[in-house]
Amino acid sequence: MTQPERQKFHEMLLTKQTELQDRLARRDDLEVQVSPDEFDARLQLVDREFQSGLLHQTALDLRQVRSAIQRMNDGSFGICGECDEVISMARLNVIPWANYCVKCQEQIELAKQQEGPDDRTSELVPGSE
Ligand SMILES: [Zn+2]
Repeated sequence: MTQPERQKFHEMLLTKQTELQDRLARRDDLEVQVSPDEFDARLQLVDREFQSGLLHQTALDLRQVRSAIQRMNDGSFGICGECDEVISMARLNVIPWANYCVKCQEQIELAKQQEGPDDRTSELVPGSE
């Protein structure tokens, strides 16, 4: 990887880090919405749980971005954390914080699926009436 390429990814990572931190910092806004109406309150609760799910994802993303910045500092950026192969430029252009090559990422996703379906989202959707 050339120096200008590293520089470009570094800037992308820092931008992403700022964006995610801003999103997490705004989570307090969720707490101030209070409705005296019970039905509205219920809906807001569902919405808030959904939001906190998103925040959880945001926190995970932020951890990945920070870890990528760390790898950039210690020189292992762009190297697959699993098989030590170079992660392709095409992949890094889409996901600069990628820690694994496409092949290893697929293996990880596959292993995750075998642990069982992720039904978290469906639990948070209110029942239709
Ligand atoms: Zn790999």
